[in-house]
Amino acid sequence: MSIENIKIAGAGPAGLTAAINLAKAEYQLDVFEKNYDTGVRFNGDLHGLENWSRKKDVIDELHDMNIKCTDFNYTGFKNLRISNGTKNWDFSCNRPAFYLVRRGNIEGSLDQGLKKKQH
Ligand SMILES: Cc1cc2nc3c(=O)[nH]c(=O)nc-3n(C[C@H](O)[C@H](O)[C@H](O)COP(=O)(O)OP(=O)(O)OC[C@H]3O[C@@H](n4cnc5c(N)ncnc54)[C@H](O)[C@@H]3O)c2cc1C
Repeated sequence: MSIENIKIAGAGPAGLTAAINLAKAEYQLDVFEKNYDTGVRFNGDLHGLENWSRKKDVIDELHDMNIKCTDFNYTGFKNLRISNGTKNWDFSCNRPAFYLVRRGNIEGSLDQGLKKKQH
């Protein structure tokens, strides 16, 4: 089957992951982003990549999706304290319960890491 001229609307994680995989499969494509760069909506925010509910580590899952995790910074957290203001609950996990990644159009962010892969 020949698919030409693929157009992806939006250079968020979903659009860029689709682009990375389509490019790897040697499809020609263009990614269209309405903002001037990827991730500008998030302006350096920290987002959590949830890692406690699945058997496979989310970093390995990203690797399986052809996402090169060396292209962005992330930090795993094994020890958590959840507080309602009066009582604390401490949790300790064998592997990171979640990873924090930076979002936005800044060096080391998930968005810029995914974009880097396009070049
Ligand atoms: C305040 C906030 C906090 C969040 N915290 C977390 C968190 O801690 N952990 C977590 O896992 N998730 C979090 N999320 C959710 C996470 O941001 C989304 O799941 C993720 O960004 C979705 O990726 P996406 O590529 O589907 O969409 P988006 O990241 O929204 O990307 C869509 C892209 O498409 C572009 N676009 C839109 N319309 C058009 C168009 N017509 N033409 C061209 N481009 C277009 C947008 O500008 C954007 O760049 C948070 C979301 C918000 C709003």
